Amino acid sequence: MSLHRIAVLPGDGIGPEVMEEAHKVLAAVSEKFEFEVSQETFLIGGAALDATDNITALPEATLKGCEEADAILFGSVGGPKWEHLPPDIQPERGALLPMRKHFGLFANLRPGVCHPNLIDASPVKNELIANGFNVLCVRELTGGIYFGEPKERKVIEGEEVAIDTMVYRRSEIKRIAHVAFKAAQGRDKRLCSVDKANVLQNSVLWREVVIEVAKEYPEVTLSHLYVDNAAMQLIRHAPDFDVIVTGNLFGDILSDEMAMISGSLGLLPSASLGEPDPEGHTFGLYEPSGGSAPDIAGQGIANPIAQILSLAMLLRYSLEEDEAASAIESAVEQAIGDGIRTGDIFSAKEGERKVNTSEMGAAIVERL
Ligand code: NAD
Repeated sequence: MSLHRIAVLPGDGIGPEVMEEAHKVLAAVSEKFEFEVSQETFLIGGAALDATDNITALPEATLKGCEEADAILFGSVGGPKWEHLPPDIQPERGALLPMRKHFGLFANLRPGVCHPNLIDASPVKNELIANGFNVLCVRELTGGIYFGEPKERKVIEGEEVAIDTMVYRRSEIKRIAHVAFKAAQGRDKRLCSVDKANVLQNSVLWREVVIEVAKEYPEVTLSHLYVDNAAMQLIRHAPDFDVIVTGNLFGDILSDEMAMISGSLGLLPSASLGEPDPEGHTFGLYEPSGGSAPDIAGQGIANPIAQILSLAMLLRYSLEEDEAASAIESAVEQAIGDGIRTGDIFSAKEGERKVNTSEMGAAIVERL
């Protein structure tokens, strides 16, 4: 029986509430598919600030615990309680960003899925997405304009100027392209690379490298779109897309657009992956796409599906427990198909049953 180790970081707001449900699901799949997972829980974000007298949102012990694990299951961090603190130590900036950097998590995978039974929750007209859609956005997370140097404000010829630099190395583009092609291989084998090659040198290189990498994946059909057009096509007809690969800035915006047209943030997981080690193991941090939802925290009504699907991604990408991951995904689909709804996706239609966080977790476990 294989033994895996995960670091669990529930964080703030609804984080601990939805993590509880992910635990139940993990217990059920590990028994069903006969693997063992040792889990250790650590403080992160506001909870860590509270415990350290506002010194750090990312304590040494948390970092060390994560280093010793095969993967991190993350809840969410932040909330009004910590917003008065200096920006650099606030939960998101002081915990999440350093974590991504520390572990070299360069590949961000965000599925944008609209279930056919939930098309009413999407702001897109029902007839355009009658069968829902399932798009995966692969965003480069540690390069591009967010990190390029120089990054500064200064006075040039008597006028204030702000400078951000967009830099992409061939190697950075190549490794994210491989992640995207591999993801497409396991899906509908269509990859759309999004850039701005009509204007940016970065994008010209991006396109060249993606085309080169494509030669290693002859079964995947590659297309290219300029980012402005991609933003429009996603709204016009999202079902046309399978996998999208793009840089840090464009991916930031497009993945949020995808979350919006999918319906509820409470449904969408995400994975941030590092480079595979020599044995082929990929370390990753898995978290819901949404935040700590302070407006509903403590009420037991948050949707745990994003956290549960983040666990499924962890099982697939870091623990290579594909069967367990697929079983969770189908159990979630069945629960939705059977009309089980937390408040965020409840529309009072016939056949729907409104449930709380733990009832949704139980409904998913029942269907496993
Ligand atoms: P948010 O994603 O927390 O909430 C936006 C809206 O979506 C809210 O109405 C919320 O109730 C709803 N929502 C989110 N997840 C839900 C779920 N699982 N079930 C039901 N409804 C859900 O975004 P925000 O309000 O802008 O941010 C709140 C806090 O979260 C801030 O402190 C922000 O910095 C932090 N945040 C953290 C992360 C992270 O940890 N990765 C990401 C985004 C925001």
